[in-house]
Amino acid sequence: MELFDSHAHYNDEKFDDDRDKVIKNIYAQGITRVVCAGYNLKSSREAINIANRYDFIYSTCGISPNDLNDYNIENLDIIAKLAKTKKNIAIGEIGLDYYWGKENKELQKQAFIRQIEIANTLELPIVIHSRDAIEDTISILKQHTVNKKGVFHCTQLNKYLVQEGLKLGFYISFAGPITFKNSKNAKEIVSIVPDDRILIETDSPYLAPEPVRGTRNSSINVKYIAQKIADIKNTNIEYISKKAYQNANEIFQIKDI
Ligand SMILES: [Zn+2]
Repeated sequence: MELFDSHAHYNDEKFDDDRDKVIKNIYAQGITRVVCAGYNLKSSREAINIANRYDFIYSTCGISPNDLNDYNIENLDIIAKLAKTKKNIAIGEIGLDYYWGKENKELQKQAFIRQIEIANTLELPIVIHSRDAIEDTISILKQHTVNKKGVFHCTQLNKYLVQEGLKLGFYISFAGPITFKNSKNAKEIVSIVPDDRILIETDSPYLAPEPVRGTRNSSINVKYIAQKIADIKNTNIEYISKKAYQNANEIFQIKDI
């Protein structure tokens, strides 16, 4: 069984001591594709470096709503340039986060829209980070068509967000929170996503799923997300893993060899 972790941060400092060891190990354990996501200038550059070092890792670059210190015209030009790198498959993570940033909503919206424009220019999909900003996220996506669509990463378990996201042609990526014991509506939300729109991710090093919650996360744990979805959909982990793999190749325009 091969697995595709559609969102991880091997560019995070928590991997500084043993990055190469962890990456070699995840590949040996059957995680044969990974997207390493950038979120500001430095991490975007690092994601590209990592993708250049490992055949099976791809990158995204962008400035997240929590990293708007990096948001200026000059840096956007750099992001656009970095994003042209061969193994960069999306602009992200970008979006809105009103959980951490209530005071700069207008700036967040502006940065989101500008980066959608970059994605359209480069014919790339986007990876969306949306937290406690459901209405505004959907309304921006309705007003600013993303030509190559994209992915809701670590999708917030909200029915309106998922339904509207699906209608707009986006893919829904599930992470650790669907396995958490206090997650009340994981079953309801996972059930409404068609099999051909589901992605699985770890968001490593954060959000380790049950039964390893609280530890440093790595792509090895993406199997727990696949298993949880399989349980909810009354199918097996092999089927979900395969679907999620194909779906990720599809949305990120990765040709299968
Ligand atoms: Zn992330």
